[in-house]
This record gives sequence, structure tokens and C-alpha cells, in this order.
Amino acid sequence: LVSRKKQPENTIVDLKGEKIGDGKQHFVFGPCAVESYEQVATVAKAMKEKGLKLLRGGAYKPRTSPYDFQGLGVEGLKILKRVANEFDMAVISEIVSPADIEMAIDYIDVIQIGARNMQNFELLKAAGAVNKPVLLKRGLAATIEEFINAAEYIMAQGNGQIILCERGIRTYEKATRNTLDISAVPILKQETHLPVMVDVTHSTGRRDLLLPCAKAAIAIGADGVMAEVHPDPAVALSDAQQQMNLEQFDHFYNELLASNFVR
Ligand code: PEP
Ligand code: MN
Repeated sequence: LVSRKKQPENTIVDLKGEKIGDGKQHFVFGPCAVESYEQVATVAKAMKEKGLKLLRGGAYKPRTSPYDFQGLGVEGLKILKRVANEFDMAVISEIVSPADIEMAIDYIDVIQIGARNMQNFELLKAAGAVNKPVLLKRGLAATIEEFINAAEYIMAQGNGQIILCERGIRTYEKATRNTLDISAVPILKQETHLPVMVDVTHSTGRRDLLLPCAKAAIAIGADGVMAEVHPDPAVALSDAQQQMNLEQFDHFYNELLASNFVR
């Protein structure tokens, strides 16, 4: 169902007027994890000033260690909804349990399925059974074929509003947190009719690589870029190493605008 052979024209996912897949570039920004209303609202305000309206933030955080911050759960979703209402934004947030999908769709505009859950087939089926866009991230060690099949699981249940997100894969290379598989973008665009985004934060794990990788993503045909922004990354409860502060976010976005990489 997700194959380009089945549907030659691009799928467009409409998020509050941002039409992902329309040939323009769309940007998703926001903190790694929702920590407080003030934290999310501060980032949303900086985004609003730039005319950006796709806000991300994790309320359920699949952390490597069980002792690390696990997210605020439904309280986090409530904060996201409040901020989205105040700033007229669309919210993207990860859901990790099939049982939470029905509840979560009252709070968020896009269900994110994270890398660690790309082959959680019950979660894919549950997301496929609701009328809500899904942002599906590539698994840590998933082939492109496995990634496409995960999207197929969602669409097979009737939900075709899917955005694919390349977020880097595990290789032997240690210079970056993951290896951004940039060629996955045109391959996914050729093989499927779904929009494709690139998460420059989790793929690189390095602030100094966010801008060049965002430019590469856009140049190679990605429909959008995701990056994490936090008012004070040094005290962030997750991903303190690679989130941008507001000044770095300004610079990042202005550079993309100045280099004609946007719209
Ligand atoms: C995220 O986007 O918050 C996240 C945890 O990313 P990933 O699933 O790609 O690791
Ligand atoms: Mn993160």
C-alpha cells in the first residue's frame, strides 16, 4: 500500500495547514522531553516568531537506562496541548504503548513511533487503526525494507497519513551517535509515496553537525527536518548533549533561510 507503484502521486499529510509532502520543507522543533509548561512555551514562542508551527516534545521517553527520566506521561501531553492551543501549533509526541493510543489522540496531532518501537507490531497496528497522522522513525538497526514494512503495517489497518523519519542507524562509526543514512531519503521517496523527514539531532548526536546535516537532508529531497531545542540544554533531563539553545536555534534556522534551503 505504501509503494510508489501502487500510488504514483505523493501522499500529503496536512498538519494545521502545513502540508508535509507538498515539495516544500517543513520543520519540527521542540525539546527532547516535556519538562514543564514554561520550558515548552519558551521554545514554542521562539518558534512562533519564526512562523514555525510543528512542535515536538516527548512525554513518554524510551530511555536506555530505567533510572533515567522517563517522561511526564499524560501530564506532559496536557502541557503540549495547552501550549499548542495558545500558539496555534500542531503537536508531535511519541506514544510507546498500544493501550495509550486512544487516550493520546485527544492531546496530540501526530503520533510519533520511536526508533525502538519501529517493529512493535501491536503498536503499529494500534496507530494504524485511528484517524491520526503517524510519524514513524526508522529503527536503530532497521534496513530500509524493514522500515517500509513497518509503515505498511500502519497503512494496512487503514491509516495512510504516515510521515517517515530517518534518524540514523547503528554502525561501527563512533564519531557520531548514529550514522545518518542520507541516501535512505531518495530511496524512500522512490520506493514509497510517503513524505520523508530527517531527524538531525538523534542521527548525529552533535550540535556542530545539525546545520550541515539539515542542509544535506534538504538538498537530497527531504520533506522536512526535525531538531531538538531546549531553553537551557545544560539542565535538560534528556539529550543535554545535542539540543540547541534558543540562540543556536536562531542561528540554525537563519542559516537555512539565508542559504535558500527553505521554501
Ligand atoms: C525522539 O525523537 O524523542 C526519540 C527518542 O528519537 P528516536 O526514537 O529516533 O531515538
Ligand atoms: Mn532526544
